[in-house]
Amino acid sequence: MKLVFATHNQNKFDEVKVLVPQHIELVSLTDIGCDQEIPETADTLEGNAKLKADFVTKNYDLPCFADDTGLLVDALNGAPGVYSARYAGPQKSAENNMQKLLFELQAINNRNAHFKTVIALNLKEKTLFFSGEVKGEIIKTKRGSAGFGYDPIFKPFGYEQTFAELSMDVKNKISHRGRAIQELLNYLKSISNAT
Ligand code: IMP
Repeated sequence: MKLVFATHNQNKFDEVKVLVPQHIELVSLTDIGCDQEIPETADTLEGNAKLKADFVTKNYDLPCFADDTGLLVDALNGAPGVYSARYAGPQKSAENNMQKLLFELQAINNRNAHFKTVIALNLKEKTLFFSGEVKGEIIKTKRGSAGFGYDPIFKPFGYEQTFAELSMDVKNKISHRGRAIQELLNYLKSISNAT
């Protein structure tokens, strides 16, 4: 079964590719020749994930899943949430996003936050949703160079390292996306006679 993961983010694709069983041929947007920026204009994670998956299935006639992730900070009433990618502006700079978040939290003691990923899986005849979360805290200065996005300032509960200091293997086991992907994989296995 050929399955598209609707992302242009190579880091994300690599994180997921190692988790997918070999009988599923996971391909990226680049692999199918889609170099467009798919609009993410919904105001929920579910809505954006569905927009992206539907776009690919409609235009490329392939089953597809897409994820949308938000970082929800308790003291900021869940911000940046669905707007995490553009928190500091449309250029989607990870560095600027982190600096803005550190600035907003500079006088705040409660630094608890969680990442949430929602996956929409479009199998042509139906669309299913899966989700995963990881709780942690926003530290005061960046640490680590692995990963992407807000990884250098997010420390998951139960760990001394930030996501950017953990190996991809460990991050995958505990992360929002790793958990959502695991749910997706469980589902794909349960219908494996159809895949
Ligand atoms: P998107 O859903 O990939 O557009 O992600 C939304 C925002 O969350 C972007 O700023 C990403 O960089 C950030 N983000 C998504 N996943 C992760 C992650 O695993 N670690 C850190 N930041 C992430």
